[in-house]
Amino acid sequence: MNLQASQDLSSNTLSILRDLVAFDSTSYRSNFDLIDYVRVYLEGFNIQSEVIFNEDQNKANLLAKIGSGFEPAIVLSGHTDVVPVGGQNWLSDPFSLTVREGRAYGRGTSDMKGFIASVLAAVPAMVKASLSRPVYIALSYDEEVGCAGVPSLIDFIAHQQIEIATCIIGEPSSLKPVTAHTGKHVYTCQFHGTPMHSSLAPEGVNAISYAGRVIAEIENLVQIAKTFAVKDTRFTHPYPTLNIGRISGGKAVNIVAEHCQFDVECRYPPGSSADFFTIGLQQIMQSVAHLPMQQKHPSACAICEETVSYPAFSSTDASPAAQLVRRLTGANESYAVNYGTEAGLFEKAGFSSVVCGPGDIAQAHQPNEFIALSQLTACDNMLNSLLTELSVKEAMS
Ligand SMILES: [Zn+2]
Repeated sequence: MNLQASQDLSSNTLSILRDLVAFDSTSYRSNFDLIDYVRVYLEGFNIQSEVIFNEDQNKANLLAKIGSGFEPAIVLSGHTDVVPVGGQNWLSDPFSLTVREGRAYGRGTSDMKGFIASVLAAVPAMVKASLSRPVYIALSYDEEVGCAGVPSLIDFIAHQQIEIATCIIGEPSSLKPVTAHTGKHVYTCQFHGTPMHSSLAPEGVNAISYAGRVIAEIENLVQIAKTFAVKDTRFTHPYPTLNIGRISGGKAVNIVAEHCQFDVECRYPPGSSADFFTIGLQQIMQSVAHLPMQQKHPSACAICEETVSYPAFSSTDASPAAQLVRRLTGANESYAVNYGTEAGLFEKAGFSSVVCGPGDIAQAHQPNEFIALSQLTACDNMLNSLLTELSVKEAMS
């Protein structure tokens, strides 16, 4: 593997990672400070950035082009947001990079500021080189809340008619090429009952019981899910999986519950479908609405709304993206993962994509998240190989 021919970890990569981690870019906060840091950094190399704001003007994507080659471009893509640290037991400040025993600790080190740091550290060399293809740095917001930010960035790329050869999505994959991942649908289901003294419970609709009936029916869908299995043995669970991950409701044991809500998700591998879930959920909702007590109290109602959805991702080993990453890392296999990324959206837009980034997904979202320094070095080397490949082509043309 040519990653073994490693250079030392660039002190630049580590110092940029330190800066990036210090921005608390948890998804519910603005990412402006981080985006502005990148914009100013790139401006230092005479690279202009397009900053694409969200509707509320409090978050932004960034797209920056390096080089002026005429061949279709390479996109290096990362998300700037991180998951919350609340309720987690951290041994050090999650927003202050701590290096010990060959690891750099901090929120987002693996997922996925390590990749962004490595990309930014490679910029001076990219600027100096004469690239046969432009390299775009594409940074998004709100990936962690369901890939909500990147669609406007992809639209922008499409609208500008930028020709793309390959997108590398640098999510933590231990720098293995990932060519398939699951898609996801998330629904939030809300139930309204009739609040009254619990001694009158038989006369009312209890929102928690109402939700409970729906949950029991969803559990039946879990069995149906297995009939939609695909043959891709790379997936740990090669069929759709369901999870009810959060529920809340009720005020006190002596009050008939007025409100209850839960979130339920369905993940599905490429080649399978979540229709049994999305359609099944609506059918379940209709059937419980016709129970006698609900009909007696028209104010008692329930609604399930889709809050997150992104497509499954599937590419082939022969795709330009997979081939490029294989050349750069020396990997000779490709992988499938059960987590989701923005790759499905890039691929769906017609851009050959692959997931390949430093760090282990097992570290993502965890307390004391870290990235091994050796992974950062390996990512620096991968980008160095990219630079060599793009420069060589220039010399040959
Ligand atoms: Zn991520």
